[in-house]
Amino acid sequence: MANPYPQVYLGDRIVAAEAATVGVASSAVLYGLSVYTVFPVHVAGAARTAFRLDDHFRRLEESCKIIGIDRFAQEWDYQRFYAAVVEVVGQNAPVEDVFVRATVHVVESIPGTRVRGCAIQVSIFVYDAVPIVPQDGMRLKSSPWRRIPDNAIPSRAKVNGAYVNSVLAKQDAIDSGYDDCIFLDGNGHVCELSAANIFLVRNGTLITPDVSCDILDGINRRTILTLAAEDGIPVVERAVDLTELYIADEVFVTGTSAGAAPVFEVDGRTVADGQAGPISQALRKRHAAALRTDDLHGWITPLN
Ligand code: PMP
Repeated sequence: MANPYPQVYLGDRIVAAEAATVGVASSAVLYGLSVYTVFPVHVAGAARTAFRLDDHFRRLEESCKIIGIDRFAQEWDYQRFYAAVVEVVGQNAPVEDVFVRATVHVVESIPGTRVRGCAIQVSIFVYDAVPIVPQDGMRLKSSPWRRIPDNAIPSRAKVNGAYVNSVLAKQDAIDSGYDDCIFLDGNGHVCELSAANIFLVRNGTLITPDVSCDILDGINRRTILTLAAEDGIPVVERAVDLTELYIADEVFVTGTSAGAAPVFEVDGRTVADGQAGPISQALRKRHAAALRTDDLHGWITPLN
């Protein structure tokens, strides 16, 4: 377990972490009616930079739009968001890399199961950048729990309540001695992990489920697709069968909290020779570098 850094942005100001609460009668608590994103901040001495901050803001806006949280677009724009991020990161003055979680909570009290016009509060907190999966070769288990389909709770909206699905699957994987789960959809196609996207390599081609496969449109997934294409690696986004992972040359996962980390085992079957393959290793390196500096894509936003 971990604590947020002491200063938290809530509503329109910085408050002490202990005072950063939303009400027990809010829709956020009653229904899990909040949407969020997590992005990394790199710290180098006094300089702090966020990775793909504008893309994270856009995804937050899109999550709100999908769910119908209309007050966010009325009350927030990127400039306000940027200023709040600068303020909360600055007040906490981290000395090493951190993650920042920004959430739009529906705080209307007992409104019933509806959303439009309901009051919101934005919270932003900083916490230690601890990966959620091993970085040196993880073991995955396909889950008995199915991914919630787009026509039930859409995965492309990063909505807090939907993470009950992830908790069920991740806990099942942990209870079975694995590091994380692989979600399948109702047809047995591979979706993603509890909080990371998945890639495989076969015969030199990088393959990943496309964005209509009930996945989160991960920002690190997009990053890897861009970097791979630039490196001349053939890339295919398509439906993936579970058994393709069993016979893959390489498997790795991506996410803000997962990094770009190799998978050594799926359902008790060793992936290739059980080591990080050349494409995984090369992209992991490129990804780690891109989080810190990037001259080409405009992915880095200074926070001071
Ligand atoms: N899928 C799910 C379900 C997630 O929660 C996350 C983490 N945000 C990801 C994928 C990876 O997304 P990103 O690269 O934007 O962190």
